[in-house]
Amino acid sequence: MTNLVRAAVKVDIERTEIREFARPLIPADGGLLRVECSGVGGSDPEMYRKPDHAPCIMGHENVGTVDELGPAAAKRWGLKLGDRIALHEYLPCWNCHWCKQGDQRLCMEVDFFNVKDRFNTLRYGTCNAGIAPHLWGGFAEYMYLAPNAVIHKIPNSMDAVHATLAVPLGNGVQWAVLDGGAGLGKTVLVYGPGQQGLGCALAAKAAGAAKVIICGRTRDRARLDLAPLLGADIAVDVEVESLKDIVMRETNGQGVDVVVDTTGDPTGEIAREAVELSAKGAWLSLNGLSQSVPIGEIKKRYLTVRAPRGHSYKSVEIALQLIGSGRWPMDLLCSHDFGLEQVHEAILATAGRGIADAIHVTVSPWKGL
Ligand SMILES: [Zn+2]
Repeated sequence: MTNLVRAAVKVDIERTEIREFARPLIPADGGLLRVECSGVGGSDPEMYRKPDHAPCIMGHENVGTVDELGPAAAKRWGLKLGDRIALHEYLPCWNCHWCKQGDQRLCMEVDFFNVKDRFNTLRYGTCNAGIAPHLWGGFAEYMYLAPNAVIHKIPNSMDAVHATLAVPLGNGVQWAVLDGGAGLGKTVLVYGPGQQGLGCALAAKAAGAAKVIICGRTRDRARLDLAPLLGADIAVDVEVESLKDIVMRETNGQGVDVVVDTTGDPTGEIAREAVELSAKGAWLSLNGLSQSVPIGEIKKRYLTVRAPRGHSYKSVEIALQLIGSGRWPMDLLCSHDFGLEQVHEAILATAGRGIADAIHVTVSPWKGL
């Protein structure tokens, strides 16, 4: 057993280097994960561009095998060496109102809208690698299992690359189904055919939605072509077709029951249009920080509006059930898998740079070794 751990470290704006860290001493209430695979999140290309966010071991959609385990952690987590797990990126307090109800995403300790210094707040894949024991991201051979990690056990039979979809598909379950109410008889509109949007479509259809419409742009053609295999009934290129005409035709002029915007469109145009395309009583998950929705329209249409905010414990557990069911062609979502030396290419590919038509990109740190 070598005492050094190789990691891909973001050292500057869009620059990654392989560095070695000492294999940490594991406390009684912690552990060490041998990373099998780590997904590149939709937000990673943006973080990769941030100038003040280095050194950082990125990678927050993590799957691996328990390689070391303190006795207290083994007891509390119900794990043993060799067990396979998927993790959330959150490292929450486990003691607040939100943590106790499985909404670790809203815990004030990890809430990006609450913490003053995101870079120095512990969270897998985004925090400062200068903080001991340094291994806080999945783009590394091993990752530290902190006492407050949020852990899901996964079966031995589950493909590690597929399992990295637990987080993005968990977002789909959360936003479209648990928050949006997509279910039997519902009509659903999803903006954006990326990993989150396709996750929403899949989750909505798995929940029994009557009709799922997903839309994107001409540059998303490959993703739109895949969408019907992943739960969408209709995939719309909004640069070629009229989304409004299609939504109204498909809903007998009523509009849709559920809308999820996964794009965060900064112009506010999607927020405006989503209201216009909604049926009375619809649930909308609208993305962004400065867009506005007219209260009068909310009242007239009796809408419920909220914003996508990560994933609860339950949503990720359901996502893992969907992945393990074998009913969905997860391979179609998992478009590219890279080794540790290609983390830079993997992050750029997620942003559509260097490689076209990437959907969910992963890094398998032991690949080729
Ligand atoms: Zn908490």
